[in-house]
Amino acid sequence: MIGMREHLRFNMQIGKDKPFTIGNHKVECPFCDRSRLVDILEDRHPILYLKNKFPVLEDTYQTVLIETDTCETELSVYPREHLHAVVGFGVAKWLEMARSGEFASVVFYKNHGPNSGGSLRHPHMQIVGLNRVDYRNNVRDQDFQGLVIAAEDGVEFNLSTHPRMGFTEFNVLLRDLSRIDRMAEYIQVAAHYALHHFHATCTSYNLFFYEWGGGIAAKLIPRFIVGPLFVGFSIPQVTNRLDEIRETLQERYFREQE
Ligand SMILES: [Zn+2]
Repeated sequence: MIGMREHLRFNMQIGKDKPFTIGNHKVECPFCDRSRLVDILEDRHPILYLKNKFPVLEDTYQTVLIETDTCETELSVYPREHLHAVVGFGVAKWLEMARSGEFASVVFYKNHGPNSGGSLRHPHMQIVGLNRVDYRNNVRDQDFQGLVIAAEDGVEFNLSTHPRMGFTEFNVLLRDLSRIDRMAEYIQVAAHYALHHFHATCTSYNLFFYEWGGGIAAKLIPRFIVGPLFVGFSIPQVTNRLDEIRETLQERYFREQE
């Protein structure tokens, strides 16, 4: 029998004051004017790490990693050096919090685009310590299994054969932390493919990190309106074009390097 799922409580009073630069009722981007940001935890210009000003999740410690001082750029097009810096810094801060022993678990994720559930366009990630909920209870080995697109010692890039939600999910599995730069590059390929070569209507994705199997896993999910079979019945779907998508990715991003 499956146990009761743990819920996080969303604070509506704080939620109603949250600024949006995606969708309706747009405001000036709060991450562009750094002079007005408070509760800075670490400044590694242009990366800035701070407490979330609108902590809508009760029983948590919410932090934000602003990736750059440029509003209109995106992880999928960062120069390699900046890509390595952002992912390396984010993973370091996430693991630091996870290993502090202060939380049941710590989630690390990123939203991009109107269908991602995010509220601010400016490229950023979130690291949130959960006092009571352990996300690992909701994760399974099969979430990270897939057709290998590319692999090197200690790091693998695959296409999910058993997506958590569907229909197409990309996994990057890191077993050797010293290969984190390569992990960042695989993540960038997945993001770039999702936004530029996947589906004409794809403008959004989520990126999630997990401590899993003695290493780190990242999952990038291109986002569309969520299908009713998943919403109502938790039945995920998988695309019937897995081989074709893998072939396209290999051809476009990896063939010439072989
Ligand atoms: Zn901005």
